[in-house]
Amino acid sequence: MIVQSVLAHLDPERIARDTLAFIEVRSETGDEGAGSQFLANLLRREGFAAELDEFLPGRPNVLCRIAGAGGGRSLLFNGHTDTIPTGSSTPPSRDGAWVVGRGAEDMKGGLVAMVHAASALRRAGVRLAGDLWLTGVVGHEAPKGKKEGPRRLIAQIREGAIRPDAIVIVEGPCAIWAASLGSAIFNIAIESGRGPVHTVHVPYEANPARWAGWILEEFARLEREFAERPPHPLCGRERVNVGIVAGGDYMNRLPTPLQITGTWRWQPGKTQQMLSDQLTDLCGRVAGRSGLTVRCTLEGGREPFETARDHPVVRALGDAAATDGREAEVVGMPIVGDANLYSNEAGVATVYYGPAYKTAHSDDERVEVAQLLHCARVYALAAVNYCGAVSS
Ligand SMILES: [Zn+2]
Repeated sequence: MIVQSVLAHLDPERIARDTLAFIEVRSETGDEGAGSQFLANLLRREGFAAELDEFLPGRPNVLCRIAGAGGGRSLLFNGHTDTIPTGSSTPPSRDGAWVVGRGAEDMKGGLVAMVHAASALRRAGVRLAGDLWLTGVVGHEAPKGKKEGPRRLIAQIREGAIRPDAIVIVEGPCAIWAASLGSAIFNIAIESGRGPVHTVHVPYEANPARWAGWILEEFARLEREFAERPPHPLCGRERVNVGIVAGGDYMNRLPTPLQITGTWRWQPGKTQQMLSDQLTDLCGRVAGRSGLTVRCTLEGGREPFETARDHPVVRALGDAAATDGREAEVVGMPIVGDANLYSNEAGVATVYYGPAYKTAHSDDERVEVAQLLHCARVYALAAVNYCGAVSS
């Protein structure tokens, strides 16, 4: 009964219209004010008390608590109101079964589906037992975004101002994305105490370039080792790769310092500290053999996350999708996102469920209306499954 009356209040055309209107509001990272304002207005139009948390001038997060009757688990839906630069992306439009434009898939469509899901519950007279939070954050998209919005939300969760038992981020593939590898950028600097002198004075064994070669060979050996280990069932195997090898300015001057920069991705179970120790050990071995100074720094590190397949929020989403006639796969991705932060830094089990993950960041970003309707249905039913309903 609840299911039928909730689903009857979801209209794909209204969702599509709101998504298009949201896309027409530019909200590029660093200048998301209008996007957050749109989301707050949409929530208010649907009868909810939305708050703009302007912790940065002109760049507010959006917070909306729908108080439960008590006795149920609390669920927080989350998305980012910023987009990557509009650039040369296709202008906002409706193209048959699709809504087109920057932010369609990543992730204004998901945010609109989230609002419509809560609205359908209200219109159907469903009172949840636990609290439902609808939230939008700023500063997601790198490099301009420094995760300002997610970090603000994490601080509020840590202070106890917001107490979710689980978080669902309303973007990503149309599947329960429940694990991601960790990731960090490493920078190894190899330096000779001799300075950039004529190479005629320096044996090749004391040349930083020779030892950069040793490190690159060591990475190749590690890569073979990673490939031989059983991969993580959801997000694959550990991997190391290099993007910059830089040093030297003249054919017979010693290339010092010399740097190797790349990305390391690792599986749940390993931590950034373990990686840091591993790299410190590697640098120590090179320094010991070469007599050179070898240092490594890590930046932009994100710990991996994994939410268990039998976690109630995974089951709530899986059952909701099944009610809408789909079998939701549980997947992992080698890329990092805000779930890595919410899981590790707020300590709240987090998963993603979105309309699609195909056109984000492309010049032809689009989202299918049928997928938005499916997501709105799943969010509404998952909220009932997870938080419990006390009346209808
Ligand atoms: Zn996104």
